Amino acid sequence: FDEVDSLRKSMEISATGISVPRPVCSFAHLQLGEKLMTAISRHGYSTPTPIQCQAAPAALAGRDVIGIAETGSGKTAAYLIPIIVHCLDQRELETGEGPIAIVLCPTRELALQIDSEFRAFAKNSGLGSVVLAGGLNKTDQFKLLRKGAEVCIANPGRFIDIVKMKGFTLQRVTMVVLDEADRMLAMGFEKQVRSIVTNVRPDRQTLLFSATMPTKIERLARDLLKSPVRISIGVAGH
Ligand code: ADP
Ligand code: MG
Repeated sequence: FDEVDSLRKSMEISATGISVPRPVCSFAHLQLGEKLMTAISRHGYSTPTPIQCQAAPAALAGRDVIGIAETGSGKTAAYLIPIIVHCLDQRELETGEGPIAIVLCPTRELALQIDSEFRAFAKNSGLGSVVLAGGLNKTDQFKLLRKGAEVCIANPGRFIDIVKMKGFTLQRVTMVVLDEADRMLAMGFEKQVRSIVTNVRPDRQTLLFSATMPTKIERLARDLLKSPVRISIGVAGH
């Protein structure tokens, strides 16, 4: 325990919740498959950032996670690595249709950035993704969905449009990430976010990442997450 405490202290990690998994200090300690490890290092990541050190093992253990860390701290990989591991496991267990993981984020630019990071990590994994965002071609999005994209990276409005057009089913979704939750709420997406998440099966794993934690986000997390591990880095969230 002392070792875990001093590791957290050295990285300015605060982690609370029931039985919080221990942080790692290298990607190798995450016991990822060889392909994923290679993709991570080819992408230029040699050492995990503090949020990755604590949030990735918690998410890999199947826990719901609240991750609060400033912009530029590496939150994307903190959830994309667990998403890839989860999708690979789940794809073997379950046939069926529709995405396995969804990432909701506020803007098209961000969705495209997350997608490009996903593609780098998912290289040679056979996993596919689709971006659902305004200003992108709906026909292309439908095609990718038909092909069986496991990961859907979306803005809330376009996501709901496409669900209404029966573009895909949520029956296979077991992992949901709310990225930049503070910005999504500031942009007025709270109702859409709540309606999307509550339409996903109750045995889902839910992760919420944000740079700040105003009361509205605390409430959202309380309503949508189950016994989360709450992680904050540095002064964020205090
Ligand atoms: P956030 O979502 O917290 O704002 P990002 O996930 O966008 O942060 O990461 C910020 C930048 O740092 C990106 O360019 C990303 O590729 C890079 N980065 C993230 N994690 C690592 C890492 N472990 N090693 C090297 N670069 C990283
Ligand atoms: Mg981010």
